[in-house]
Amino acid sequence: MRRFPEPIANLVAAFARLPGVGPKTALRYVFYLLRQPKADLEVMARALMELGERIRSCPRCFTYTQAQICEICLDPKRDTRALCVVEEARDISTIEATGSYTGLYHVLGGSLNPIEGITPEVIRFRELRARLEAEPHIGEVILALSPTTQGETTILFLQKQLAPLGRTLTRLARGLPLGATLEFADEVTLGDAFKGRRRL
Ligand SMILES: [Zn+2]
Repeated sequence: MRRFPEPIANLVAAFARLPGVGPKTALRYVFYLLRQPKADLEVMARALMELGERIRSCPRCFTYTQAQICEICLDPKRDTRALCVVEEARDISTIEATGSYTGLYHVLGGSLNPIEGITPEVIRFRELRARLEAEPHIGEVILALSPTTQGETTILFLQKQLAPLGRTLTRLARGLPLGATLEFADEVTLGDAFKGRRRL
């Protein structure tokens, strides 16, 4: 790649660090931005700055928030007897969108992956245990982790570690994605869908 002026090269390097963006795509983004009005670039730059300056981690559930404590943790209508453990803060909005859960959350910040150095010390396991110890009213802990190898490893780990605390531990039922046809379902999903079948 030929040498670009420093501001271009710097932004290409910054974009290329984003997940799923390689150097070619990064270059395309930068050249697109070069064609935009300066005012638009300033709006974008300000949005990036504000991300760093105004977003913090909720000290109770570890989701991202602008406030001292996040909206969900502060909401008196939430059911404080249920705690839903998720991998990432973005999973909360997915679950909230279903409208079928009214309890509280705990964001682990990842799932166990020893090969990549993601150990129990890296995810917020200590914080989860401390919270359960401090809040005896939490009766159910829902392990809403992805059914991936890492997610399953994390569920097994949490199940074993949290058992002595005497809470009801649950996990999400697995089934067929909405709109999927049986023909294209993998056998694990279809098998789980069978095991998790409900009376009509
Ligand atoms: Zn919170």
